[in-house]
Amino acid sequence: MEYDVVIGLEVHVQVKTRTKLFSGCPYTYGAEPNTLTDPVVLGLPGALPVINQEAIRQGIKTGLMFECRIADICKWDRKHYFYPDCPKNYQISQYDQPLCRGGYVEIEKPGNARNIMGEHRKVALNRIHLEEDVGKLTHSECDSLVDFNRAGVPLLEIVSEPDIFSSEEAFAYLHSLQMHLIYAGISDGDMEKGHIRCDANISLRPKGSSTLGTRVELKNLNSISGVKNGIEYEVARQKRILDSGGYIEQETRRWDAEQHISTGMRTKEMADDYRYFPDPDIMPVTVDEKLLSILREELPELPFRKQERYQLDYDLPYTLTSVLCPNAELSAFYERAIQHHQAPRIIANFIANDLLRELGESNGQITLQTMPLKPEHLAKLAQFIEEGRISKQVAQNLFMEVFRHGKSLDELICAQQWEQSFTKDELNALCRRIMTANPKPVEEYRRGKTGAINALKGPVMKETKGQANPQLIDQVLKELLSE
Ligand code: ADP
Ligand code: MG
Repeated sequence: MEYDVVIGLEVHVQVKTRTKLFSGCPYTYGAEPNTLTDPVVLGLPGALPVINQEAIRQGIKTGLMFECRIADICKWDRKHYFYPDCPKNYQISQYDQPLCRGGYVEIEKPGNARNIMGEHRKVALNRIHLEEDVGKLTHSECDSLVDFNRAGVPLLEIVSEPDIFSSEEAFAYLHSLQMHLIYAGISDGDMEKGHIRCDANISLRPKGSSTLGTRVELKNLNSISGVKNGIEYEVARQKRILDSGGYIEQETRRWDAEQHISTGMRTKEMADDYRYFPDPDIMPVTVDEKLLSILREELPELPFRKQERYQLDYDLPYTLTSVLCPNAELSAFYERAIQHHQAPRIIANFIANDLLRELGESNGQITLQTMPLKPEHLAKLAQFIEEGRISKQVAQNLFMEVFRHGKSLDELICAQQWEQSFTKDELNALCRRIMTANPKPVEEYRRGKTGAINALKGPVMKETKGQANPQLIDQVLKELLSE
C-alpha cells in the first residue's frame, strides 16, 4: 500500500538571555554541573519567581518574525509532572494562551537543483509559547545524575501544524528556523549545545486521504541529521506495521542516534495528566501596540528577503545568494565590500569561492572576525580586475597574500616581480602600437576628455597579460598622449 507521510514538529529553542526566565541566576553553556542555580531555580520553599522581560521581548520578536498573532497578555501556567529533572514538580509554561498563534516558517523546497531559482513554501505554525527549561539527566549503568544548570533557562516552544510531508521537508524547516533565530539574535542556534531540540510527530495515511492517521511522537532528535534519520526510521516502522495489517498506537518513542533505532517510552499523556492551572505567583504581562512596534523595528532584514534583494539589485544567481544570505555576518561583509567598489558579481564570487574555501580549510583557526582580509581588500581586487590591471590568476595570488597576511594591495602590487617585467622602452613601443590601433580615445583624450585613457589601458594590460606595472603604463601613456 502507498502512504503519505504527515509530520508536525515541536521545537524547543533556548533563548539567548543573560539570566534565567524567573530569576537573576545567570546561564552559560558548559559550566560545572549545579553551579548555576539559586533558590528559585531549585524550587526551594519560599522562593518566588520574577519575570525576565528580555525573554518576553525575544519571544514576541520571534512571533513577529514568523508573522504570528501576538497575545494581548503574556500569562503563565503550571504544568505538573513528577520527574527528577523538575525540582518544583511543575514547570512554568503557557497553556491556553500561548504568546503567539498562527504564522508560518518559510522553507526552501527540498530537491532543488542549486543552480536554479529556489522554490519556497510556507509551513503553517500552530503556536509559539514560552516556558522554562528543566534540568539535564545523565543515566549510566549504576547511577543517574542530574544537573540543574539548565533548569529555568527561557525556552520557546515552536509548534508547527501537521504541514510537513517528508523527512527532507522537516530538515528544510529546521534549517530555516535555525537560520531565522540566529539572524534575529534570538538564539545561538547550536544544536550540539542543545540550543535547539526537536520532537517530531509522525503519522501515515493512505495516499491521497485527507484524514490524519494516528501519530507517534518521536523525542530526542537533537541534530539536524538526527531529525532526518529518526523520521525515516519511524516512517519505515509504521509502514511495516500498517502493511502487515496492524495498527499504530499513539505513543511517545525515543530516537537513539547511536544505535539508529527508536524505542517506546510511554503512551502519550493527555493534558489532564498535567493538571494545568494559572501560576498564582506571577502576574500576567500586558503586551501593547507600542511594544510591538518597537520590537518590529528591531528585527533585521530576514534572510530570504535579503536573498531576493541580492538577486534583483545585484543580479546575483541563486547559487551565490544561497551561499551569502543564510549567514548574516557573511552578507554584512559582502555589503561592506561592495560599498567600497560596486562590483557585486566579482566580489560575491571571491567570497563564495575563495574566502569560504580558505576559512573552511583553516578548520575554525581563522574566522570572519579574525582574518586579516578586510572588505576594502576585496573591493580593490575587484576594481583592479575590472580595470584590466591584473589578470584573474594574479588576482588569485593577491587574494591569498591578503587573506594570509593582510598586506596592502598597492604595496603588494609594487613589490611583485610581474609588474616590473616590462621595461619603460618596451612599454613605450607597445603603447604607441595600441594608440595607432585606437585613434578614437587618443583623439578624445587630446580634446580634454582625460577619462578616455582607460580605453587604452585595457588593451595594454591585455597584451602584457597583467604583468606590467600599472603606474608605469599610466605614466608612459600620458607622456605619449601629450606629445
Ligand atoms: P501535544 O501537546 O499533545 O504534543 P499538539 O496538539 O500540541 O499535541 O500537537 C503536537 C504536534 O503534533 C504538533 O506539531 C502537531 O502539528 C502534530 N500533530 C498532531 N496530529 C498529528 C498527526 N496526526 N500526524 C502528524 N503530526 C501531528
Ligand atoms: Mg507535545
